[in-house]
Amino acid sequence: MSLHTRTRSTATTALDYLMTAAFPSQRAALTDLAAHQGLMWRCVCRTINTLDADACSACEKPRPYTKDVTPPRYEYGQLLEDVRARLAEWFDDEPKERRPAAIGFRVTTEYDDGPAWATWDTTAYFTDAQIGTPYAKDFERSGVADALIELGDFERPQTGDTLIVVVPPPFAPESPEEKELAREYAYGISDYAHAAAAALGGEDAGWGSNSGYIGAYGLLWGPDVPTLRVYVDDYEDLVLSIHEDSDPQAFTIELPDGAPSTPDQMRTAGEAIADIIRTNFRP
Ligand SMILES: [Zn+2]
Repeated sequence: MSLHTRTRSTATTALDYLMTAAFPSQRAALTDLAAHQGLMWRCVCRTINTLDADACSACEKPRPYTKDVTPPRYEYGQLLEDVRARLAEWFDDEPKERRPAAIGFRVTTEYDDGPAWATWDTTAYFTDAQIGTPYAKDFERSGVADALIELGDFERPQTGDTLIVVVPPPFAPESPEEKELAREYAYGISDYAHAAAAALGGEDAGWGSNSGYIGAYGLLWGPDVPTLRVYVDDYEDLVLSIHEDSDPQAFTIELPDGAPSTPDQMRTAGEAIADIIRTNFRP
C-alpha cells in the first residue's frame, strides 16, 4: 500500500521517467538541462536537487526563492497569481532561456499618472546565485505587463517597493482545481481488492487478493465465487465484475466521499465491495 500525499507536477513525473530511461552517460547532461529548465534546482554549492527538496541534499542550505516578496501593506491574492501565471507562460515560450526561480520588479515613476511596476530593469533570481542578475528582456506588451497593470490598479505601488514573484516550474498546475487533479491517490486499485478481501474475513475465511498487471486492476477470490476483478471502466466508475468474462456485468462501487485517503475510509470502501459480492456473487 502506498501513501503519497505530496502534490507533484506531471513534469516531475516525466523527469523521473526520463532519468530512469537515460543511460548513466546521459544522466549528467539531463540533470544540467533539468536545472536549466527549472525542473530541478541547483544550490550555490552546485549540487542539483529535486523540486520536492526544501533543502540542499549536500550542504543543507534551504532552497531559496520559494516565497514571493510583496509590499507589506497589501494582500494581492489572485492578482499576484495572475502575474505568476503570465510569467510561467513567458518562460514556457522561451525554452532555450534559463528559467529563473523568481523575477523581481521595481517601481517606476516615468509615467504621468504616478508610480507603477516597471516591465523593464527586472531582476532574475537563480537558486545557485547569492544575488540577482539583471534580466535583459522587457516584459512590455506581454501578459506579464497586463497582470502588472492590474496589480498597480488594485493598489498603487510606492517608490522603494519591491515585488519578487516566484516563477513556477514548466507545466506546473495553475489553478487549485488543477492542483487537485495532479494529486496522487493515496491508494492503488489493487488496494480496493485487498480491502474487500479483508472485509470478507481475509485468508482465514478463504479470501485472497492480488494486484493485476502494473496495478491497473485488482483481483479477488474466495470460496464458491469465480475470480473477481476490481477496475475502472470506460465511464471512469470503479466497478466489480467476474474476471474472465469477456462481456462482464459490472457492478458500480459507490464512493460517496470520493477516493479514500485514510485506512478508515479504505475499510469503508472494502465493506461496500464486500456487500456487492454477498448480494450478487454468492451462490
Ligand atoms: Zn548545497
